[in-house]
Amino acid sequence: MDVWSHDRFGIPLPAGHRFPISKYGLLRERVEAAGLATVREAEAVPWEWLAAVHEPALLERIREGTLTLREQRALGLPWSPVLVERGRRSVGGTVCAARRALERGIGMNLGGGTHHAGRDFARGYCLFNDVVVALTRLRAEGVARRAVVVDCDVHQGDGTAQLLGPDPDAFTLSLHGARNYPFERIPSDLDVDLPSGTGDAAYLAALSGALDVALAEPFDIAFFLAGADPWEGDRLGRLALTKDGLRARDELVLDRLAACGAPVVVVLAGGYAPDVRDTVDINLATVEAVAARAVALS
Ligand SMILES: [Zn+2]
Repeated sequence: MDVWSHDRFGIPLPAGHRFPISKYGLLRERVEAAGLATVREAEAVPWEWLAAVHEPALLERIREGTLTLREQRALGLPWSPVLVERGRRSVGGTVCAARRALERGIGMNLGGGTHHAGRDFARGYCLFNDVVVALTRLRAEGVARRAVVVDCDVHQGDGTAQLLGPDPDAFTLSLHGARNYPFERIPSDLDVDLPSGTGDAAYLAALSGALDVALAEPFDIAFFLAGADPWEGDRLGRLALTKDGLRARDELVLDRLAACGAPVVVVLAGGYAPDVRDTVDINLATVEAVAARAVALS
C-alpha cells in the first residue's frame, strides 16, 4: 500500500507550542519500520485548486503572509513560507489518497483532516480544507460526485460544515465533544454532541447510530477523519476513549463504509497527547486497519 506524507516540511514553532509537528515524522518511521506501507511525498497542490474552495482574498493573505492579527491568533500557528508550502502539500496528500481510493478502494494521507478551514477563514491549526479541496477536484474531473464525510475528530468540523453543508451531494457527519472547540458552531448535516467523559461503549453506540443516518443514501466516495484526540489522555479533548476503543472506532467506520462498497479516503486530523508517542500509537493503529483492508481489496 502507498500512503502520502509531508513530514519533511517542519514548521518553526515557539517552545512549548501544542501543535504536534513531530508526530508526522515519527509516524512515517513507525509505518516504515512495521512494513505497513510505502510512504510517498505529497506534492503541493496548485493555488487554483485551493481557489475553487477558498475565498481568493483569504488565499492572497495566506500566500503573502498578510493575515490580520486576529486571523493569526485564530489560526494558532505562526506564519512562515514553509507553513504555506506544508499546507499545500498536506492537501496534495489527500488528493493523491482520494485518487488511490477511486482506483483501489482505499487510500490514506498521513496528515490532512484540516476541518476548521472554511471558505473565508483558516483557524484551529487548519490552513486549507484538504477534504473539500480533494472532493472539489474529483468533481471537476468528473470521477466522483456524491460524498460522505465521517468526521471523528473530537472537535466539530465547522469548516467542512460551512463548505459542504448546503451541498445536496454531500453529507457531513461530525461526532465530537459537546464542550470542545469550536465554540461557535456551523451545523453539519448531522452533529453528534457527546458529553465530556464519554467512554468507549457510549461513543461506539452513538457512532453506529449516526452512521445509519449518514450512510443511508448512496455515495461515490467517503472521507474518514480518524482524529486521535478523542483519546482519554488528550490535552485538547474532553472525551475518554481508550486506545482499544479508538481501534474499535476505526474498525466500525471502515467496516460500515466497506459494506456500502464506496471508496474510502482516510486522513489523520488532530491528536494532542502530552507524549506525542501516544498520538502516534493511535495513528499507527489506524494505518494498520487501513493496510489490512488494502490487502483484502487487492
Ligand atoms: Zn481535533
